[in-house]
Amino acid sequence: MRLTDDRYRRDRMRLELAMRLIRHEARTQTIRRWTGLSDDRIRKLFRSYIRPGSGVRRHRGKSPQQVGYFLRAGSTGADAHALASVLLLFGVLPAKPDPSLARRLPSIPRGRLLCDAYEAYRRVSPKPRIDFEHAVFLALALAASDEIRIQWCPHCEALNLVECVVLQEGDCRACGEPLYNKPAVPNGRRTTPVAARIPSAPQH
Ligand SMILES: [Zn+2]
Repeated sequence: MRLTDDRYRRDRMRLELAMRLIRHEARTQTIRRWTGLSDDRIRKLFRSYIRPGSGVRRHRGKSPQQVGYFLRAGSTGADAHALASVLLLFGVLPAKPDPSLARRLPSIPRGRLLCDAYEAYRRVSPKPRIDFEHAVFLALALAASDEIRIQWCPHCEALNLVECVVLQEGDCRACGEPLYNKPAVPNGRRTTPVAARIPSAPQH
């Protein structure tokens, strides 16, 4: 009996996540990866629950793959930094890098957190520029941390997104100081907890 209940609960969570992803206009391959549902099941869900004229579209083609998108100067880059902070705050990404996470990230519990984080980003950003597929890509790219990663500014503690392959140079987006100076704290040890270095979570 309990087994049946657990299975029912899991299936229900899977379908709920799929519907959230559909409403965020995630691509079929993204929905499949995060929920485990088949393409056919996803298509049927879309047809059954999304009415024509609802404004929700089905996007085709490949998901984003260029991390340079997040490193642009201007509003898009600023939004990427805000979204990365929210991904940390909501626990989509751990405070400390975890090399095994990229493989484990697509899952129903993390998918729910990812939707929570993306919805919060949409609420706090005056003009959100990052679509859901790019948000998924950012989460996966930062989990892997082999193309871009998070670098905390040693001067103002702000979150910066940096490329992994470039030499360790560049300035902080927040304060303009060099990102790779030695921290001005004893023994070079960071003293500020992560929660104090990222923006406050929106209040529900
Ligand atoms: Zn700084």
